Amino acid sequence: MLKLSVLWLTIAISVVVGFTWAADDIAQSISVSRHVDTVITEAQVDNKLAAATRRLRLREDETSGDIRCCVHLRLAKPIAAFGKSNDHDDVIQDETQLRRVLMLPGARIKLVTAIQGVHLCGTKNIGSFEGCAEIGGKNIVLAMGAPSDVWAHEFGHNQGLPHRNTSTDLIMHESAFGTHEIDVKECSRFQDKGATIGPCPF
Ligand SMILES: [Zn+2]
Repeated sequence: MLKLSVLWLTIAISVVVGFTWAADDIAQSISVSRHVDTVITEAQVDNKLAAATRRLRLREDETSGDIRCCVHLRLAKPIAAFGKSNDHDDVIQDETQLRRVLMLPGARIKLVTAIQGVHLCGTKNIGSFEGCAEIGGKNIVLAMGAPSDVWAHEFGHNQGLPHRNTSTDLIMHESAFGTHEIDVKECSRFQDKGATIGPCPF
């Protein structure tokens, strides 16, 4: 009877440890800062990252290579702040300013109130936009009102992903909004390689 109990306990511990390991393996903790004049709460950022996570985990179209990508984008708390009040870096107007704010040390995502300049961030045909990221790096600028798929898209760039424009449903489409599709290769980048793809454990 004792032996049986120990066996069950071992199995129970393995299940718990295994589950925890899988969940941690696919979570991405993302550091965020906001310009001191950009008013956004931790709860609002949490909601954006949760909504971005839901989009990545959706699988609506089985014919397009879209998969349920088991990755969890979550906020590395607390949110930091950058800049000085009234230095105007909360509204991005030109490329020089954009690059300077993008490359500020500290948190990965720099939140600003608005990005007003056009044709910035290497965009030629697109007018306004709400985010800019290094491809393969750890820096992102986002307008605080950017939709959740833009948050996912810019993180994808940081993970080394280029644009993919074959459908306007694709997360990595250069300009479409309301996107949610991601393929297996892109997912492995979101997960930082090696994690399994399949039913999401949480
Ligand atoms: Zn892009």
